[in-house]
Amino acid sequence: MALIVQKYGGSSVGTTDKIRAVAKRIVERKEKGDGVVVVVSAMGKTTDQLIGMAKEISQNPNKRELDMLMSTGEQISIALLSMALQELGYPSISLTGFQAGITTEGAHTKNRIKDINIENVKKHLEDGKVVIVAGFQGINEDGDITTLGRGGSDTSAVALAAKLNCTCEIYTDVDGIYNVDPRMYPNAKKLDSISYEEMMEMASLGAGVMEARAVEIACKYNIPIYVALNNGEKLGTYIKEYDETMEDRIITGLTASDDVLMVTINNVPYKAKNIATIFDRIAKHNVNIDMISQTASLDGYVNVSFTTSKEDMYTIDEITKELKKEIRTIEVYKEENITKISVVGIGMMKQSGVAAKVFCIFSNNDIEFKQVTTSEISISYTIDSKDKQKAVAALAKELNL
Ligand code: ADP
Ligand code: ASP
Ligand code: MG
Repeated sequence: MALIVQKYGGSSVGTTDKIRAVAKRIVERKEKGDGVVVVVSAMGKTTDQLIGMAKEISQNPNKRELDMLMSTGEQISIALLSMALQELGYPSISLTGFQAGITTEGAHTKNRIKDINIENVKKHLEDGKVVIVAGFQGINEDGDITTLGRGGSDTSAVALAAKLNCTCEIYTDVDGIYNVDPRMYPNAKKLDSISYEEMMEMASLGAGVMEARAVEIACKYNIPIYVALNNGEKLGTYIKEYDETMEDRIITGLTASDDVLMVTINNVPYKAKNIATIFDRIAKHNVNIDMISQTASLDGYVNVSFTTSKEDMYTIDEITKELKKEIRTIEVYKEENITKISVVGIGMMKQSGVAAKVFCIFSNNDIEFKQVTTSEISISYTIDSKDKQKAVAALAKELNL
């Protein structure tokens, strides 16, 4: 018996009719004789609605309670999907993250999977059941329910596939991975395949179609991922090891992320100790930072800017209060209307001149950028969000995406 993990995202289970359609798709697979583990997200926009309710109560809700609240979304969809399968005459069981043996560690709302005790899942598979696991959640060593960060059901699915050593199929509302988000650039082209490294980079730079951690796990355990439309009608995209079929591309994709909060700390007395204090406080509050830039020293003072997720807005305020007590001269500014645009491609390792080309495209289109960072396979720019559409269209066209 072949095993498969399938994951259906929020839009694929947005209504009870859609849940029934997913159940039929699972049955088709079951009929081929395969063992099926299904991971589902919360129905439609449920997670956003739950967060919205929490925000009506508190601007900065307690993160443990937020996890407790958010985890309920997935519990609704697993129960309904299991009922739909049973209605079609197929034995199934829904399991929470905890019941599926998923243990996690880290800070609430951004936990990481530590391990999966797969025995319970295996037992139910051996009994011939379809095992339906709540995505996005686990349990920490205190026995508290945790969540894995937005979009984390992908991670649950790939981690289960890694543990079961099988392929992971991600079914969503788009028919594969495109070189640019097709919602942002309708002329984007679908990729037949993409390497783990490029997908990881694209995901972490804002391509919301896959969660970056999920691709990281797939890469580490060499688990093939197949991303396709939830009705299975069109051929999707394989995420796999880099191979010669991908070799002729210099730029594989373009991403844009609006989840950028740019923080600038002015008037920092120019001493390494002060910079260390700033980033130490940020790290202690579990805030992930991305681009960092620092001006040259002027009259003994420097300005430091960094970007982080908008989710961490309130934590940044807490950190600012602490820092102002220690470094009294500083002034802190937050900018929310920032977009990070990135170009990604393994081919850039061998090809120079991509950054120069992008600078020219920005210049020809009167787009100002604030920061630039590079990795081996990507270049990212922060720009004013008002220029996003113009930048995406100009870059996609001129880079032949
Ligand atoms: P799900 O609820 O199934 O997890 P998501 O909304 O998380 O679905 O991801 C699917 C969406 O990702 C698509 O609707 C698409 O607009 C977006 N997306 C972003 N970047 C890309 C890309 N490069 N290729 C395809 N889709 C992308
Ligand atoms: N329901 C969660 C979210 O909206 C997890 C997921 O969809 O993957 O972020
Ligand atoms: Mg998703």
